[in-house]
Amino acid sequence: MPVNSPSKYVYNFTEGGRELVDLLGGKGANLAEMTRLDLPVPAGFTITTEACRAHLAGGEPPAGLFDEVNDHLRELEARMGRVLGDPRNPLLLSVRSGARYSMPGMMETILDVGLTDASVAGLAALTGDEHFAWDSYRRLIQMFGRTVCGVPAAEFDRELDAARTAAGVATDSELSPADLRHLVETYKKVFHAHTGRDFPQAPHEQLYLAIRAVFDSWNSPRARLYRRQEQIPDDLGTAVNVMSMVFGNLGAGSGTGVAFTRDPATGARGVYGDYLADAQGEDVVAGIRNTVALQELERLDPTSFDQLMSIMDRLEHHYRDLCDIEFTIERGKLWMLQTRVGKRTAAAAFVIANQLVDEGIIDLDEALRRVTGDQLAQLMFPTIDPAAAGEPVATGVAAAPGAAAGRVVFDSAAAAAAGGPVILVRRETNPDDLPGMIAATGILTSRGGKTSHAAVVARGMGKTCVCGVEDLVIAPDGQHATLAGVELRAGDPISIDGTTGRVYRGTAPVHPSPVASYLDGDPTSQRDPVVAAVHRLLGHADATRRLAVHANADTPADATRARRLGAAGIGLCRTEHMFLGDRRELVERLIVAETDAEREAALAALLPLQRADFVGILAAMDGLPVTIRLLDPPLHEFLPALEELTARVVRAEALGRDPGRDALLLRVVRRLHEANPMLGLRGVRLGLVLPGLLAMQTRAIAEATAERIRAGGDPRPEIMVPLVGAVQELDAARAEVAVALAEVDGLPPIPIGTMIEVPRAALTAGEVAGAADFFSFGTNDLTQLGWGFSRDDVEAAFFPRYLELGIFARSPFETLDTSGVGRLIRLAIDEGRTARPGLRIGVCGEHAGDPESVGWFHGAGVDYVSCSPYRLPVARLAAGHAAVVTTDDPSAASR
Ligand code: PEP
Ligand code: MG
Repeated sequence: MPVNSPSKYVYNFTEGGRELVDLLGGKGANLAEMTRLDLPVPAGFTITTEACRAHLAGGEPPAGLFDEVNDHLRELEARMGRVLGDPRNPLLLSVRSGARYSMPGMMETILDVGLTDASVAGLAALTGDEHFAWDSYRRLIQMFGRTVCGVPAAEFDRELDAARTAAGVATDSELSPADLRHLVETYKKVFHAHTGRDFPQAPHEQLYLAIRAVFDSWNSPRARLYRRQEQIPDDLGTAVNVMSMVFGNLGAGSGTGVAFTRDPATGARGVYGDYLADAQGEDVVAGIRNTVALQELERLDPTSFDQLMSIMDRLEHHYRDLCDIEFTIERGKLWMLQTRVGKRTAAAAFVIANQLVDEGIIDLDEALRRVTGDQLAQLMFPTIDPAAAGEPVATGVAAAPGAAAGRVVFDSAAAAAAGGPVILVRRETNPDDLPGMIAATGILTSRGGKTSHAAVVARGMGKTCVCGVEDLVIAPDGQHATLAGVELRAGDPISIDGTTGRVYRGTAPVHPSPVASYLDGDPTSQRDPVVAAVHRLLGHADATRRLAVHANADTPADATRARRLGAAGIGLCRTEHMFLGDRRELVERLIVAETDAEREAALAALLPLQRADFVGILAAMDGLPVTIRLLDPPLHEFLPALEELTARVVRAEALGRDPGRDALLLRVVRRLHEANPMLGLRGVRLGLVLPGLLAMQTRAIAEATAERIRAGGDPRPEIMVPLVGAVQELDAARAEVAVALAEVDGLPPIPIGTMIEVPRAALTAGEVAGAADFFSFGTNDLTQLGWGFSRDDVEAAFFPRYLELGIFARSPFETLDTSGVGRLIRLAIDEGRTARPGLRIGVCGEHAGDPESVGWFHGAGVDYVSCSPYRLPVARLAAGHAAVVTTDDPSAASR
C-alpha cells in the first residue's frame, strides 16, 4: 500500500522513518528510524496522526482502524512469541502519545495494557516475580482508570496509602504480593464505583480504549494551553505508539535511564544522564527515588553501558546533532525506548553547533541554521539567578531584557546625583526623563507595555526595563511609591529582571554576559567557548546574509557604538530628542511665536544647534548612509503638560498674581491639545503646518554635510519624511526640502524617501513611490494604525487577556503580524517596486530587531533592517539564519 494512502492508519516500526514525522509524530518516526538502524527497539507499531484527526473530527475512530491494529498486533505477537493478555505467556503493551512537536507530559500514556485477572498469574510465572506482576496490575488499573475513565487519581492514592498503613510499611516496594493482590481488588471496586462497570477483562478492549484515550488527550485543557504557549497548531493531532513492554523493575540487573549525547546545559562533550536501577521510566519522572549519574552504570553493568555508549555515538552521527534518549535494561538486555534531537540552552546551541563543525559532522551553513537570533539575544544580557534572588515581590511586562540591581531614584536629578547604580522608578517616562534613563542601570514603571516610551528607549540604550507593574503604585508627586503594598523609598535597594519581568527587593546578584563584552570589543572574552562559537557563527551570518543591517541611532555616541556592533549605516535617526533639554526654550519660542519674525528668530537659533548634531553623527558614520528623519512627534510633547500649566495659572490667579508667560503657554497648549495625539498633528503634517520647520531641519542637514566635506569627510545623509499618508503630502514636503537643499552648494546627491507607517501610504504605495527615493517601513505605527491599537496603552491594558484567549501568540508590536500588517507591507513592496523598479526598501520599527520578523523581511524582499544598536548582532545573525533556511516565498525567489 502506498505510504501516503489515506486508508493506511497503522505503521509497523519497521516501516518508514524520521522523514514521516508529520504522520508518525516525533516519537513514532524516531522509533522507526532506530529500528531501521537495527538498534534494540521493542517491537511495535504507530497509529498515525491522520487517524487521530479523523477520530477528533468524527468523534469515533475511523472505520477500519481497529482491524488494521489487529493485523499489526498479530504480527507483533508472532515476533515476540507471546499473545496479548495470554494467561500463560502474556504480551503486555505500552500505549503512548507522540505528536509532531514534543509536548512533554501534556498527553496520556498507559502502560501494562493486557493485564487481566487471568494474565497476571502468567506474568508472575513468566518473570518469576509475583510482587512485580501484582504491582504492574494495580498500576494498570490506576492509570487506565484515571486516563481512560476519568477516575480521580486521589481515589487510588488514598487506597494505596491505606494499604501501606495497614501493612506498616513506608514504600510501595515493601508491600507483599498478598498486600498488592488485595489492593488490586480494592482498586477494582474504586473503578466500579466511578464508572458503573467492571475493569475490562478483554485485553483487546483495553487496547482500543487506551488508543481512544490517547487520541482524546490531544484536546485536554493542559495540552491546549501548552500548544497556545508554544505556538503549536491545534489541528495536528497526536500519533499513538503501541509497543511491547520491557521491564526495568525486575531486580538489580534491570533499570531505566535518560541520557544526552552532550551536556544540554553547557554543550560540553561527553555523555550526560541519569540512571535508576530496578525501576520503570515513570519512577524516574515521579522522582520516587534519587537517580545516579549514568557513569554509575559502567560499574553496575559494563556490557550494557558499553553498548549504550556505542549506540549514542551512532545516534549522534546519524542525526548529526545532540540526541536525548530513554532506555531500559531488562535483566541485562538493553532496550531503546525513545530518541530525539534534544532540547538545549541557548549557550549549548551555539557551542554544540560550533563543535559539530569542528568535528566535520555539519558545515557552517547547517550550524547557522541551528542557532537563532533569539538565542543570541538571550546570551547578550546580564542575568539574575532566580535561586539566589529569592522570591520576586512583583511582576510586570518584560520590556527590555537583562537584569540590574541598584538604589531607587524617582527622577532624573536624583539619578544624576546618585553615586552608585540606580533604578529609575516612574509611573511612565517621557522625553524629560532621558537624562535619568541615561544615568540609571535599569528602569521600572508602573504603566505602559513593550512599546511604551520607557521600553523603546531602554531597549535602544541596551538597558533593562520592567514596565506596567500593577503592584507598583507611584504617588501623584512621583516621589513616593508602594511596591506590593509596602512602602518603597528613594535609596532602597531593588533588583529588576527585564527578561522575565520580575522585581525583587534588595540587591540580587547580577551576572554580566561575556558575549556582550566580546561584541563590545573585549578580545579577552574570546577564550569563553560560548563567545568563540558566537564569533564564528556571527561571522558566517555576515558572510551569508542578503539583508543589510543598519542602526536606529540619534547621537554620535550611539552611532559610534552602532558601528562597532556592525551597523552598515543609520537607518533611522530620530530628531526629536534634539529639541529637548536646553533647547526646549527655543522650541517653546517657536511654538508660541505670533509673528513671522518671532518664528524665524526661534528657527535661526535652533539651526546651528541642529547642524552641530548632524555634523557629529555624520562624522561618526563617515562613508556610510545616515537616514535622518524629520521631526515626528506632536508639538505639545515639547510644552509643559496641560494639567500642570493649568494648575500654575489658576494658582497665580487665585493669589492675585500675573501668570505672565504661563497664560500664553496655556493658551497654546489648549489650542494644540489633542484627544488622540498619535492621530493628530505629527510627522509630515506638522512640517507642512508649521512654516519653516522642514526648511530649518533640511538646511541643518545640508550645512552639516558641506562642513563634513570641507573637513575631508565622506558624509552620506538621506532625508526621510515621517507619517506620510498621501503622495500629495510627500510632494509638498519634498518641494520645501528641495528648495532648502538648493541653497547650499557642493552637496552630494541626498536621497529623499518616506516612511511607510500609515496604512493609506501602503495602500497607495505605487503613487507614493513616484515621489520617494526609498521606503522605510515604520512598523510600530503601521501596527498601531493597522490594528487600531494605541501603542502606549494596549499592552498593559488588555494584551494579557488577548494572549490568554489565543487571539495572538505574541504581541504584534514585538513580532510582526505577517498576515495583516505583513500584507500591507507586501502590497507596498510590490506596488512600490512596480512603479519604481529597484526601489530601496528598509524597515526601521522595533520589528527590525526581532529575529522572527527579520526572517520574514528577508523573505519579503526587504533590502535592509534598522534596529537599536544593541539588537544589531541579533539582527545580523537572524538575517544570516534566514539566508540559509530555504524559503518558499515567491517574492523572495523573484528578486
Ligand atoms: C515606527 O513607527 O515604526 C517608527 C520607526 O517610528 P516611531 O517609532 O518613531 O514612531
Ligand atoms: Mg512612527
